[in-house]
Amino acid sequence: MLVVMQARATPDEIRAICERIEALGFRSHSVEGSERYAIAVTGDLHGIESCGLEEMPGVHEIIRISKPYKLVSRESKPENTVIRFPNSDATIGGEEFAIIAGPCSVESRSQTLAVAEKVAAAGAKLFRGGAYKPRTSPYAFQGMGIEGLKILAEVRERFGMMIVTEAVDTEALAAIEDYADMIQIGARNMQNFSLLKSAGRSPLPVLLKRGLSATLEELLMAAEYIMSEGNRNVVLCERGVRTFADHSRNTLDLSVIPAAQKLSHLPIICDPSHGTGKRDRVIPLALASAAVGADGLMIEVHDDPDRALSDGPQSLFPNQFAAMVEQLRQILPAVHRTLGGVPKGISSTEARS
Ligand code: PEP
Ligand code: MN
Repeated sequence: MLVVMQARATPDEIRAICERIEALGFRSHSVEGSERYAIAVTGDLHGIESCGLEEMPGVHEIIRISKPYKLVSRESKPENTVIRFPNSDATIGGEEFAIIAGPCSVESRSQTLAVAEKVAAAGAKLFRGGAYKPRTSPYAFQGMGIEGLKILAEVRERFGMMIVTEAVDTEALAAIEDYADMIQIGARNMQNFSLLKSAGRSPLPVLLKRGLSATLEELLMAAEYIMSEGNRNVVLCERGVRTFADHSRNTLDLSVIPAAQKLSHLPIICDPSHGTGKRDRVIPLALASAAVGADGLMIEVHDDPDRALSDGPQSLFPNQFAAMVEQLRQILPAVHRTLGGVPKGISSTEARS
């Protein structure tokens, strides 16, 4: 349910509405837009009418949200959400196309810094790298843990990129809050509801990857878990789903991008690295993602992919990544998106080397 306030509603009137909602045992969430101020009501609203809210001073109207996801839906917030970071001009969901790049895993300081230097020079404003890895085999490299997070913090220090890294559980999430700028929830954890709720209580924005065989509605309901705990900064990520097709690791579902944008105000980016699993498919699908209107990309890059401890076959070489960014520069104006310049202190010739 959405309580839309009158344009001239006073802060006291708004406070009174929120107090009434909470007293009734529901949660209130302010939804601010340039056109209107509304308060979303969540909780088990079964059989509840407007609870007298309609008659309270300052209320313009009560709108019932028909979708099972409420805070995530465009019905509750018609304007696109734009994720911003303190101390960075990086955004996700605004006019600028967001690029998150880096290795699958943080393997060592030298590997991570080498990749970071290259992707920063090519124009990435956000850096990825797993310090905690969800691996199919318990014997495969599980990540460097806290030591990996410290390396990521050094990347932010040296290159100014915002750090995106995966929380595989609530313990990792707490550690990530101390070192990184954005929490990634991986495909395997998309329906780990206690982890989603913990991420919902975090001050950091959350990158939520689509589950291995999740429908769009399941993805949006997972995002609702995060938002229902108070965190409004959620970015969705299409990373391919498992299908009968065996020519690629997963099937990147580009049609989900406009579908998600129609139903939700949240940004949605594409990950063609996991979506294809094969290096030679990553750039074509990255360009297609931009063309279809994605808000950004997540791309795995490695300086020595043959020796990578995870996902080497789908990792781009740094020079391929830089070439991809140049191609994006040509495509993005056609879909009314921009690409940030190369960060200060890094020459554009270096970016292309
Ligand atoms: C990753 O980003 O390295 C990863 C494990 O992704 P996903 O959860 O999409 O498989
Ligand atoms: Mn990976």
